[in-house]
Amino acid sequence: MRIHNLSLGLARAYLVEHEAGLALVDAGSPGMEKVVLQTMQEISRQDLRIIVITHAHLDHYGSAAALRRATGAPVAVHLADASAMQRGDSPLGSPRGRGRLVKALFPLINFILHPEPVTPDLSLDDGDDLSSYGVPIKVLHTPGHTPGSCCYILADRWAFVGDLLSTTGGPHMQRYFAQDWAMIPASLNRLKALHPEKIYPGHGTDLLDGEVLQLLGSSSTQSGAGYRNA
Ligand SMILES: [Zn+2]
Ligand SMILES: [Zn+2]
Repeated sequence: MRIHNLSLGLARAYLVEHEAGLALVDAGSPGMEKVVLQTMQEISRQDLRIIVITHAHLDHYGSAAALRRATGAPVAVHLADASAMQRGDSPLGSPRGRGRLVKALFPLINFILHPEPVTPDLSLDDGDDLSSYGVPIKVLHTPGHTPGSCCYILADRWAFVGDLLSTTGGPHMQRYFAQDWAMIPASLNRLKALHPEKIYPGHGTDLLDGEVLQLLGSSSTQSGAGYRNA
């Protein structure tokens, strides 16, 4: 099994290369489908079996509709984010810090990027097992950033976490956008309890080791010490 780390505009996405099929975790910003299709060509694989979306923000589902057209792969998202994605929305909740500026500019960003709405083929819930699609992925509902934010756990070892945390400027919990801030630490604890070995964030070039994950969310890391410019 190999995991291809793709930079798809504003966010990262991951192509899981499993012998039984390919799975794509997140679909990047609008117009980035070529990067995914090119990667599939490079590895001589066309069997994309499923596209799982961590949450309904345009930098994560933006190329999903185009990729579904190109590959026939179904698109899956948690049921609590399905209607936002279906409308082409990106609910930003109650932003903090520089998230407020992004929210103020968001109508312009949305106009420029113009995400294509995606009606999901599959609405997911916590605990769902997607191994019938060829890749051993389980759904962990980790709400807060959006109501339907999910982590996808591959082979009980690797965690794709969307915007629950980021490694931009150093590893940290989500701190700019949330629908419900109180749920973010609780969701992080749900992820920690699974003790994943490696964490694949939605933003940031670095992956995170499981030991570092266990340290996140303590008062020292959340005060921003050492991570002030993230
Ligand atoms: Zn997001
Ligand atoms: Zn994002």
